[in-house]
Amino acid sequence: MSGCSSAEVIELTPSELLRYERQLLLFGVEGQKKLKKTSVMIAGVGGLGSFEALYLTALGVGKLVLVDGDTVEDSNLNRQILHWTDDIGKPKPISAAEKLRRLNPNVEIVPVTERITRDNVDDLVKQVDIVIDGLDNWEARFILDEAAYRAGKPYIHAGIYGFEGQVVVIVPGETPCLRCLLPPSLKSPSKIPAVGPIVALVGSIAVTELMKLVTGMGEVNKGKMIVVDAYTMDMMKIELRPRKDCKCG
Ligand SMILES: [Zn+2]
Repeated sequence: MSGCSSAEVIELTPSELLRYERQLLLFGVEGQKKLKKTSVMIAGVGGLGSFEALYLTALGVGKLVLVDGDTVEDSNLNRQILHWTDDIGKPKPISAAEKLRRLNPNVEIVPVTERITRDNVDDLVKQVDIVIDGLDNWEARFILDEAAYRAGKPYIHAGIYGFEGQVVVIVPGETPCLRCLLPPSLKSPSKIPAVGPIVALVGSIAVTELMKLVTGMGEVNKGKMIVVDAYTMDMMKIELRPRKDCKCG
């Protein structure tokens, strides 16, 4: 796993051994050390990003870089669970960092109050081992996908629309990229229908895939699109193929 290239010796403190007791039963001290060595960028700290950040912090990754250029608004509060009523007007990465540090002080939280652009994306991706998607628009996702692929870093795409959502685990050199699957001209509506429990459902699938990728436990759904329809509660997986004329090939 690319996240574990550091030669630095990572140990768990007695308080971490207590904190993670129940998950150590699942993936052991070695799995927990792999999580602690891993740095993750959360691209967008809205609905999906709030949920992903909360659970990655509770899991005990080493570092989270939170990237978002927006401030908290009233209409965010139905689903963006890291932002509360008295946070309205605050930059989202700052609002999120305040709670995450209280949840787990062992995790280094780095707030970045910027929008993802072609100019800053490479510097942001360079700081982490894995990128996870909390975005709400395709333009920024394609910029991120391209940069992560270029840097050889796994990118876990997640997206929702109303009752539906999808997750794709993209690993450079092993799987197709996002641009193989979707036309780069794809545009997002300015307001996507979104409700908290479905954001949580899809965010949870994305974090679970990241956890399996890092710890080496379970089957990671590389190169497949996991599609959830919460209206019926059906889930399916679609095998993805690389597109011959894609730049990633
Ligand atoms: Zn591609």
